[in-house]
Amino acid sequence: MPSASLPCVELAIGLKVKGDSYSRRTPLMTMWKRYTLLLAAVIILLGIWTGMTTGSRLVWVVFGLTLLLVGGLGWYIEQEVIRPARRLRQEVERAVAGEKGVGMWRQRRGEIGRLSQTLATYQDHVQEEHGYLTHQLKRLQTVFAQMADGVIITTPLGNVQMANLAALKLFSQTHDQVIDRSFAEVVRHHDIIHLWQRCMETNEPHHNVIEVRGGLFLQVDCTPLNEAGVRAGCVILLHDLTSVHRLETVRRDFISNISHELRTPLASLRAVVDTLHNGALDDPPIAQRFLARADHEVDALTQMVQELFELSRIESGRVPLKLTSTAIDGVIENVIGRMHSAAERKHLTIEKDIAKNLPPVLVDPPRIEQVLTNLLHNAIKFSLDGGTVTIVAKPSPIDAGFIQVSVQDNGVGIPKHALSRIFERFYKIDRARTSGQGTGLGLAIAKHLIQVHGGKIWATSRENKGSTFYFTLQVSGE
Ligand code: ADP
Repeated sequence: MPSASLPCVELAIGLKVKGDSYSRRTPLMTMWKRYTLLLAAVIILLGIWTGMTTGSRLVWVVFGLTLLLVGGLGWYIEQEVIRPARRLRQEVERAVAGEKGVGMWRQRRGEIGRLSQTLATYQDHVQEEHGYLTHQLKRLQTVFAQMADGVIITTPLGNVQMANLAALKLFSQTHDQVIDRSFAEVVRHHDIIHLWQRCMETNEPHHNVIEVRGGLFLQVDCTPLNEAGVRAGCVILLHDLTSVHRLETVRRDFISNISHELRTPLASLRAVVDTLHNGALDDPPIAQRFLARADHEVDALTQMVQELFELSRIESGRVPLKLTSTAIDGVIENVIGRMHSAAERKHLTIEKDIAKNLPPVLVDPPRIEQVLTNLLHNAIKFSLDGGTVTIVAKPSPIDAGFIQVSVQDNGVGIPKHALSRIFERFYKIDRARTSGQGTGLGLAIAKHLIQVHGGKIWATSRENKGSTFYFTLQVSGE
């Protein structure tokens, strides 16, 4: 609290402290001096006149004593009242002017002393309160600045009075660009402005979840500010719900996907059982065919359950890694050997390009083979006949101390909107296209396995041109 805002202090002795009137002499002092001099002059004149008219010696004595008494009284009042009052006034003036360390004249006795002590206590109290409020203000400012949620305070006229860092980031503005500008101009979003206007009009809180731009979801809470029954503006709280919204979508998709994945083999099994019931059992060759189909569906279901179980184990960190220093070349060779026949069936060429002197990596080899198998399996699956799949291993251009492995195909590619979702459980771009060709768990498993190894995994793609999947692995310290 700045010193200028200290309240006006009116002293009972007639000293008025306010604004720039400090330098004026106080009425009490002026009055006292004027009346003392007047009284002395009156006594002298009266004494001379009486002495001269009566010629009595007693009159001269009384006159002398009275003069002495008045002079003594004057001196006493000057010492005990006027001076302390002046000094007190000067101290109060300095305190009001914001000077620190001004100690009120506490030692004085009498009324002035008591007044001085009361003022000193009052000053201590004001300073304490000032310190406390400054501390609280700083704390509040820190909390506002650190808050992940955006906070904007508007005046009753609708101008922005305060906006924290999160709010500035949300609307890509700087502090100077928003302060004192109209809220509508700063936010530039119809639904948020409408919500805020309703709050201002009704003087009641209003909330809504609003999609701002490009998939950014905000929970907007507008609360009217009322100070002592008077409208003082509005507080707008902006909570980013994008990740919650995304998780909600993932959860919904997960349930719908798992139901879909289960429904297909179960419907097939139902059909097999019905056909067998309806007489196919009596025809052994047909029965054999249907049993083989049932066998296939049960295998698919079992694989899905196993993969789900595996994924949940990896996610919850229940898969202990046996990390060893491993040459990535050997891992790549093993996987190519295993996928060779699948590639041949589609007349695909698998090429590899391993950088020379690539350091060994610290991995659990079977786990990384599993990652590479899933990626290579997809590359083969989503390539057209006669295509090429290339596996490259080199030092990571982004992360020092890591190597980067990539699996590139020139197959069907992945649409832009799906690129950020392909690592989700059960996510398949085109269910019809891939139906029966996988569980949609392969990339989710690969992602989690790479993450538990401390690496990163991502993909780039162009539709109908092909895709490249990358992952990084930490170089072994040995
Ligand atoms: P799936 O078992 O169905 O292959 P994944 O998790 O491995 O499941 O892959 C998820 C989806 O990502 C696939 O269904 C496919 O749509 C897409 N995908 C993965 N790899 C590729 C690729 N190399 N080319 C095109 N699409 C791919």
